[in-house]
Amino acid sequence: MGDVLRVEHIRADPGRTARGYLDIAELRDGTPARLPVALVNGVQDGPTFYLQSISDGDEMNGLAVIRQILKRLDPGALAGQVIAVPIVNVHAFQAHQAFSPIDGKKMNRCFPGRKDGTSSERIAHRLFQNAVLQADFCVDLHQGGIRPMVDEVRVRVDRRKRIHRACLELARIFGIGYILDSRGPDGQLARCAPDEGIPTIDPELGGCPGWDATSIKKGVTGVENLLKHYGLLKGEPILPEEQFVVDGFLSLLANRGGFVNYRARLYDHLRKGDAVADVTDPFGEVLETLVAPEESIFWSHALRPAVATGECVGTLGKNVRSL
Ligand SMILES: [Zn+2]
Repeated sequence: MGDVLRVEHIRADPGRTARGYLDIAELRDGTPARLPVALVNGVQDGPTFYLQSISDGDEMNGLAVIRQILKRLDPGALAGQVIAVPIVNVHAFQAHQAFSPIDGKKMNRCFPGRKDGTSSERIAHRLFQNAVLQADFCVDLHQGGIRPMVDEVRVRVDRRKRIHRACLELARIFGIGYILDSRGPDGQLARCAPDEGIPTIDPELGGCPGWDATSIKKGVTGVENLLKHYGLLKGEPILPEEQFVVDGFLSLLANRGGFVNYRARLYDHLRKGDAVADVTDPFGEVLETLVAPEESIFWSHALRPAVATGECVGTLGKNVRSL
């Protein structure tokens, strides 16, 4: 039998689940803003896993993943502990936007937070101190906003750091098939938690407004893969035969203004010179064809099919290697 699992006043005995809310702030009229927290405390000892979503307020796929995982987890069959926070950026979520309308910040630039900081920094601090630091490994579920993107997972730690290896392994076991291995900006959970010795990844579950069933399914499989690999659940992870790693992106920019007809599809492996998209005039005549400047993977494309000169038509993952 393990210990009681506790995040502030919310607590679960071994073999039990608990759900509750942390009063995280007050709105302008004094109404409390609440942060939902779920705890699943396995009947057997094992690692502690921290999982969060909606750190960016308009990224809904991760929440759908957490709800499915919570439905499937039976504390009687779990060896270890799961802490899940399905809505981190409560203010941004209310406004259907990535940034908090209270302080204009992106939560994923605010970790590990500050006790006396702005709204987002205070939320990040409470979560980091009281939940994240209990974990042996973390997953911060994101997506490429509403812009269509491949389902991928990001390693945000500097490659020279020792913990990089553990983070890349976490990404491999997540098993979504496409990995960005590139040091992220300051304030990302996937950088700050590894600084405390906690391997962390940032899955990016596609891009869409609302929910995408395929991306959500891949996210659920990824989380279950980790739970199996690290011994919290019985069974073996389901991994693709080959996974691809890129180390950054190239932006494909329109030179002409017009309407975009894509000739490549997301996930396509492109050789140098392969056509990615035509920019066409209002009559349908081709103004230019944009090609891959080097070997790459078609990673994301614009939300709307009309672009101006210098506007991004899509991004390509570069320096592709297989894992
Ligand atoms: Zn995000």
